[in-house]
Amino acid sequence: MDKILPSYSDPLFSILIITILILIVALVSYFLGNYKEEREKKNLKKFLGTINIDNSILDINKLPFETSLISPLSMVAKSFATNGEYQKAISIYLYLINHIQQFFQKEYLLQELGETYFKAGFLKRSESIFLEILKKHPRNREVLYSLEIIYERLNEYKRAKETLIPLEIMGENIEKLRVNLELSTLLKDSTIYKDERVKRVIEFMKKEPFLYRRAIRELFKIDSNIAWNNLDMDKIDIIIDILWLLPSSNLNFDIISSNEILKSIYTAKGILHIEDSLPNIGIFVIDTINSAQKGGSFNIDLNFSYSCSRCRDSFPISFDRCPRCYAINSIILNSTITEKRAYRGYSLF
Ligand SMILES: [Zn+2]
Repeated sequence: MDKILPSYSDPLFSILIITILILIVALVSYFLGNYKEEREKKNLKKFLGTINIDNSILDINKLPFETSLISPLSMVAKSFATNGEYQKAISIYLYLINHIQQFFQKEYLLQELGETYFKAGFLKRSESIFLEILKKHPRNREVLYSLEIIYERLNEYKRAKETLIPLEIMGENIEKLRVNLELSTLLKDSTIYKDERVKRVIEFMKKEPFLYRRAIRELFKIDSNIAWNNLDMDKIDIIIDILWLLPSSNLNFDIISSNEILKSIYTAKGILHIEDSLPNIGIFVIDTINSAQKGGSFNIDLNFSYSCSRCRDSFPISFDRCPRCYAINSIILNSTITEKRAYRGYSLF
């Protein structure tokens, strides 16, 4: 034995001990790493198992899994999700996620699953999936943006703001999102007195011009006289629908009758009588209706629709964030002349 092992005083003995220690540390790290990965896989499986899916909708689990199925099935799931068949899309995503071992290979599928739950209205499930992804990949920008939208929808503005911190650290321009969240926080805070709330909404409106439309609409809800006194006449064309759809009880005739633009709008609406001296104000639909009234046609109304300057999608109702791409300050107001109807059930309030 003495001939096999070097003596204690031999420098070779120290080298042998160090080599053995390195081997032990490497083996322990390997097994610990494997154990941790296995545990995370089990946790993810357990978490996904808590999501109940009606398998009768799409019995995909009988399909033998092969790696070559990942790409075509992902496309099929995406197509289902786009067409609003969310349950089918979710079944496929869950099938793929459960069969793929490596996180980096299934991260985008988890992301798609989270987005599909979001579109289907399951905000809490969507939140759980996004949080699972962030545990593994905290710098996933798309997931952080999606999580911010979820928290905004859930009125959890503090948590929404927290998602902006890593995005800002990564160099993303999140200023508009932050300001928008600050206004949302203010509007939902029931501990702030009305006078203070009004004062701060006006401050927002003046400091952040992109929030003008939202802020003036909120002011009309809180106190219409304060809203009338804070109208920006240079921005009237982006709030024609708000003014047009105001209930008669919210109109301030002192202000309306003292301003040619407002007078023209409410003459076109039929609230004020048409006068031959009424000038054109440069808003096409208003000038057209007033010209028609001067010619004796009074049965005219305005119809409003809305589109998004980013995704170009159209919507029948107004929005602060685009319902499709969630852009802020992207609303385009489209006004069309239509025949007057006795009743319209739509209001912005
Ligand atoms: Zn959009």
